[in-house]
This record gives sequence, structure tokens and C-alpha cells, in this order.
Amino acid sequence: MSRVYNFSAGPACLPEEVLREAAADMLDYKGTGMGVMEMSHRTPEFEEILHTAESDLRELMGIPENYKVLFLQGGGWQQFSAVPMNLVRNGKADYIVTGQWAKKAAEEAEKYLTVNRVASSADRNFSYIPDCSDLPIDEDADYVYICQNNTIFGTKYPKLPDTKGKTLVADVSSMFLSEPIPVNEYGVIYAGVQKNAGPAGLVVSIIREDLIRDDVPAFVPTMLKWKTQADADSLFNTPNCWAIYICGLVFKWLKAKGGLSVMKAENEKKSSLLYSFLDQSEMFKGTVEKNSRSLMNIPFITGNKELDAKFIAASKAAGFENLKGHRVVGGMRASLYNAVPYRAVEDLIGFMEEFEKRER
Ligand SMILES: *Cc1c(COP(=O)(O)O)cnc(C)c1O
Repeated sequence: MSRVYNFSAGPACLPEEVLREAAADMLDYKGTGMGVMEMSHRTPEFEEILHTAESDLRELMGIPENYKVLFLQGGGWQQFSAVPMNLVRNGKADYIVTGQWAKKAAEEAEKYLTVNRVASSADRNFSYIPDCSDLPIDEDADYVYICQNNTIFGTKYPKLPDTKGKTLVADVSSMFLSEPIPVNEYGVIYAGVQKNAGPAGLVVSIIREDLIRDDVPAFVPTMLKWKTQADADSLFNTPNCWAIYICGLVFKWLKAKGGLSVMKAENEKKSSLLYSFLDQSEMFKGTVEKNSRSLMNIPFITGNKELDAKFIAASKAAGFENLKGHRVVGGMRASLYNAVPYRAVEDLIGFMEEFEKRER
């Protein structure tokens, strides 16, 4: 067996310890004689997996009592619809468009309410986060929506926007558990877990209780109504048991490493190593303005498409996987999620230095 360095943006690298533990449990989870995939979600064993995952997540993120934690299906995309469906009241919402995912979320929300795009960074291909200190927030806005870390463009909000008292909703998929965040400043936080915490198909939504309402529009599907899911403690129907189990193992791994402040320090160390290399390289350049840089997703280019393609092929052959950038940015992208070791970044930079010398 040999494992590669995996820089995928998602589904992405998971901690090797977690994969080993899951492999060991595969046929016989703690003496039950069956694996977690084969187990009813109504058994005490699974209920314990679910409750432990929730309490570990609460501890890691410091989630206050008055927030519910929901383990839902349908990925990030389904929350693009669930957010307007559950929060619509005055029929208006303000969206800050900083990339593909915020754009898609705004388009989806437009089916259910009037969307005001109060800021955007489309003018420079989403290479920065706009100033959000004094936005024209609508007095009647039901919420203000952001995608806090832009997976494709590699930007992250240097600080949260001033929502002028309106409920802040954030898609944190690609920065989930990468650093501490002040949960009480948000109304809704959600994350598709396949970026930084587990297998695809599970989304964790952390929602302030007063935003979980029964009086949503009549057309809202039972499954998309947060109240349904909250009342049933994420067991309204069969949840994604396997993904919840793996996330639970990742939460334990994060706790054992010392929690999110430790992760933040590690992630800063990894990303600054790559950013410093890019800042001095004559061949490779980062595409994002300095104060908007993501800790997790780092796009870079050579400025020459053929050279980019040559680099991607050569890096793959050398054991650095999934460095091809998203088609809307081009070039390369290294996603340095929690499970990507420091050594992977050091070795990548060593490879880039050699490539630069050879190809100059
Ligand atoms: C990947 C991603 C999504 C989409 O997630 P799905 O689970 O594929 O629906 C949404 N938002 C962000 C920020 C993402 O990175």
C-alpha cells in the first residue's frame, strides 16, 4: 500500500489514523459483530455514535446551548435551498457574492425570495473579498448570506461583514474546523463535510434555535424544514450513518490534536510556507490578494497554460495528486486541509523549486 500526497479540494484527504480505525471496525464495530454501515440507526450503538459526534463537535467549536446541531443529507447544495425556505419572512435576503458557491446559492434563493446582491468581487474574477464594513443592507432583509471561504477562488473573509443586526448565514464548507470561529455571531453555519471532515453526502448545520420555525411556507418539503430535523435530533429518517461515524472519528482526532486553536496554528504554518514560496518564485504566482488569502485552498498559476499542464502532469507522476485548478481559475490549486501533513507541503515546494530550475 502506498498513500499519495492528496491536495484535492473535495472529497479530500482524511487523517490516516481515522481511516485505519474505520478499517479495523469495518467487520465488527466494538463487538457487535457487524459494521456501522450494517447497523440500524435506532440501535443504542448508533445513537451513541451520533450523540458523541454532536457533543465532540460542540466542544471543539464552542457551540452555545441555544444552537442546534443538525446532521443532514443533500450536501451543501441542499442548504442553498433550505436557507431561504426556512428563513423567509419579509421575502428579501442580501447576498455577498465572492465566488461560484455564493453565486449558486443566490441563484437558488431567488426561487423563493428577492435576492439583493449587496457586494461582489466578480470585477476581478473573485480574487479578493470586498469591503463589507458598510454595505447597503436592506432594512427588511431576512438574512445576510456569505460563503466564508471560497474553495474555488482561494479567498477567505479577513473579517465577518457588518450585517447591521441582520442574521448572518455562512457556508463554511471548505474551512470547517480549520480554525476557531465565534459561533454566536452567526445565525446559521453550515458545512458540507467532504471538504475537511468526512465523506461526501453529509452536511452539518448549526442553527440558532429561534431561527428554527414551524411557520415556514406550506410548500417547504418535510425533509427541508429544519424544524422536522431538529425535533427528531437528526433521526427523522435514516441519516447518513456512515458519514456521521467517520466525522465522529475526525472530531476525536481533532480533540486529541488539541482542538481548533492548534489546527489554526498548524494550518497557518502550512499555508504560509506555500504562500512565501509563491511570493518569491519567478515562475509560480498566487492568484489572490494578500489580505483575502484562504488557509485551506491555494490557487496558483505560471501564466502559461502549457507550462501549467506540464507541471500538473509532472507533479502527478511524482506522487502529488489533485493539483489541477478549477476550470474557472485555471492553473493549479493546492488544498491544505487539516489532514494534509506539513511534510506534504514541504515536499511539494521542493518539487516546485526543482521544476522551476529545470523549466526556466
Ligand atoms: C463543495 C462546496 C459546496 C457544494 O457541496 P455539495 O456537497 O457538493 O453540494 C458548497 N459550498 C462550498 C463552499 C463548497 O466548497
